[in-house]
Amino acid sequence: MSAARPAHVPMAQFPVVGDRLQIGGIPLTELAQRVGRTPFYAYDRALMARRVDLLRQHLPAVVELHYAMKANPMPDVVNHLARLVDGLDVASAGELRVALASGMDPAEISFAGPGKTDVELAEALRAGIVVNLESEREMERLAVLGAAAGVRPRAAIRVNPDFELKSSGMRMSGGPKQFGVDAERVPDMLARLGALDLDFRGFHIFSGSQNLRAEAIAEAQQKTIELAAKLAVDAPAPVRLLNIGGGFGIPYFPGEQPLNLAAVGANLAKLLDGLERRLPQAKVVIELGRYLVGEAGIYVCRVIDRKISRGHVFLVTDGGLHHQLAASGNFGQVVRKNYPVAVGNRMAGGEREIASVVGPLCTPLDLLADSMEMAKADVGDLIVVFQSGAYGLTASPTAFLSHPAPAEILV
Ligand SMILES: *Cc1c(COP(=O)(O)O)cnc(C)c1O
Repeated sequence: MSAARPAHVPMAQFPVVGDRLQIGGIPLTELAQRVGRTPFYAYDRALMARRVDLLRQHLPAVVELHYAMKANPMPDVVNHLARLVDGLDVASAGELRVALASGMDPAEISFAGPGKTDVELAEALRAGIVVNLESEREMERLAVLGAAAGVRPRAAIRVNPDFELKSSGMRMSGGPKQFGVDAERVPDMLARLGALDLDFRGFHIFSGSQNLRAEAIAEAQQKTIELAAKLAVDAPAPVRLLNIGGGFGIPYFPGEQPLNLAAVGANLAKLLDGLERRLPQAKVVIELGRYLVGEAGIYVCRVIDRKISRGHVFLVTDGGLHHQLAASGNFGQVVRKNYPVAVGNRMAGGEREIASVVGPLCTPLDLLADSMEMAKADVGDLIVVFQSGAYGLTASPTAFLSHPAPAEILV
């Protein structure tokens, strides 16, 4: 007997009524009419709120929750989340402007990312947000800009730790990295920081992304807290901010299971017990992008043509990698695997087939689903790519082939 083939976890966050998927209580076909065109992204506000509730339920109460905006910087999404979370993390001046417009307290906004320009640093210090310093040079530049502007910039040090978040979709730490300052150099940097006119807030330690293993996250959190406590000994002022990163993943591919959030929370509660004695003034922040918005979003495109090539069914759609690069497998995947994809107006059953969903671009990379089992679809049907709320439109090469950008709607 052969083992069952791994399947996608059911996308149960979106109910099905009759034959149609519902987003925010609206049947997909009606939503498409309301948007007025395809392709589009739809984000479900209630699902984001539910996700924040789940985090509050499982994480220790003292932990503050930040939204890492680069996952989905759509202003409506940011404004919605700004009312639910405790802070926002930005990675550019463009994101900073959206963050400030949301009404979030600037003291609860932080700015990470290598290669910040003087213009960006000046904007950050005028706004009064926390700059996560990515290098010694950036620290010197921020101090000069602060002196020129007559303000004392708020600064934290982003540390490149000497460990990594194991089995992450994307490694962001350990070994040589362009992010942050190597942990072993931080003591000297702290000494210099104390001599500059900078308001030292604390540390930012982000070790990885897209992780589904609670034990791996727990281990990284333990090492992060150890490292922060060790580095704090040389700090010029008490650590008031300790951003321990995030990295919480969501299941994209066949066989992947959701993260055990309860296990992460229980472990973190134990770690924080010890930390309160060592860093009594430190506010602990977890920054999440994907986990907050990824499952709340879908990408929707329409079947324009149905072709059979040497026995293989191709559904040619008006959407593709220029809007949803990640689903095409070209955003950091080593081996291409299918995102969960379905025919959103044929969810009730009926005839099924193996088909590939492709886009209009003149490249074989423009593939949204490769030989997937789905409802038998025809011209005019709506293809849904699930798990598209994070790193969807924002991470896609929209200029490629000069097709129009997709619409976006928060429902
Ligand atoms: C991208 C990024 C995040 C968000 O990562 P997710 O996997 O979307 O949660 C958080 N912090 C930093 C520093 C990042 O660069």
